[in-house]
Amino acid sequence: MRLLQGKKALILGIANNRSIAYGIAKTFYQEGAEIGINYLNEKFQKKLQPIAEELGATIYEKLDVSSDKEITDFVNTVKEKWGSVDIIVHSIAFANKEYLRDYYYKIDRQSFLQAMDISVYSFTALAREFLPIMNEGGSLLTLSYYGAEKVIYNYNIMGVAKAALEASVKYLARDLGEIKKIRVNAISAGPIKTLAATGIARFSEIQKMAEEKAPLKKTVSIEEVGKAALFLCSDLGTGVTGEILHVDAGYHIIGM
Ligand code: NAP
Repeated sequence: MRLLQGKKALILGIANNRSIAYGIAKTFYQEGAEIGINYLNEKFQKKLQPIAEELGATIYEKLDVSSDKEITDFVNTVKEKWGSVDIIVHSIAFANKEYLRDYYYKIDRQSFLQAMDISVYSFTALAREFLPIMNEGGSLLTLSYYGAEKVIYNYNIMGVAKAALEASVKYLARDLGEIKKIRVNAISAGPIKTLAATGIARFSEIQKMAEEKAPLKKTVSIEEVGKAALFLCSDLGTGVTGEILHVDAGYHIIGM
C-alpha cells in the first residue's frame, strides 16, 4: 500500500523540473496520489504540459494567486473535477528582483506589498477558499527558508515575508486543526538552485557556505524535500502540525 493511495493532492508552484514543487509532486505521484497542478499564465501552459502529463495530472489549470477571481475560479474547477481535496502544497513566492540585493530598508511600498501578497497572503487565502472542500484530516504545506529566522544578506524582503509566512502556518494550524482536523506545516528548505533562487544576488555564495557549514556537508535536493513533504502530508505525520521542519542538511543548528 502506497502512502498517498486514494489521496488528491494539489501542488502549486511548478515552474520547471528544477522546482521544489516538482520534487514534491513526483514523490507524491510515486506514492499513489492523484495530482493537480497550476500554471501561472499562458506562456507557462505549453512549457509545463509535459510535466503535467508525466505526473498524470487530472487538474491542470491557470492560477495567479495575486488574483481573487483566479483563486475562486480555481477552487470551483477543483470542486467540479474532484469534489474534494486532501493535500495542498503552496510552493509559491515572488519579490521584485531589484530588492533582492543591497540593503533591505530601501524597499518601496508597492514591492513590499507585492512580496507579502504573493508569498504570504496567498497561503492563507488558499486555505480559506479551499476549506469547504478540504477533507477532514487533510494537510496544508508551504515552503520557507532560514532567512525568516536570521539575516541572510540579499534575501531582504523575502526574509520578512517568510517570517510572516511561518507565523501564518502556526495561526492556520490552530484554526484549521480545530475546525476540520487539518494539519498545517512548513518545510524550511536549504538553498537549491531554482528559477526563483537565481533572482537572489550572490545565491551561489549562499549555497557554497551551506555546503561548507552544514553538518552533512552538502546542500539538499528537491527529492529530499519531497520525502520530508511526504512525511508531513501523509499518515506518517498525523501527530504533527504548526511545525517548521528544517530540511537543510542541518545548517540551522550551527553557530560557529
Ligand atoms: P521556482 O521553481 O521558481 O518556483 C516558484 C514558483 O512560484 C514558480 O512556479 C512561480 O511561477 C510561482 N509564482 C510566482 N508568482 C506567482 C503567482 N502570482 N501566482 C502563482 N504562482 C506564482 O522556485 P522554488 O525555489 O522551487 O520556490 C518554491 C518555494 O520554495 C518558494 O516559496 C521559495 O521561496 C521556497 N524556497 C526556495 C528555496 C531555494 O533555495 N530554492 C529555499 C527555501 C524555500 P512562474 O515561474 O511561472 O513565475
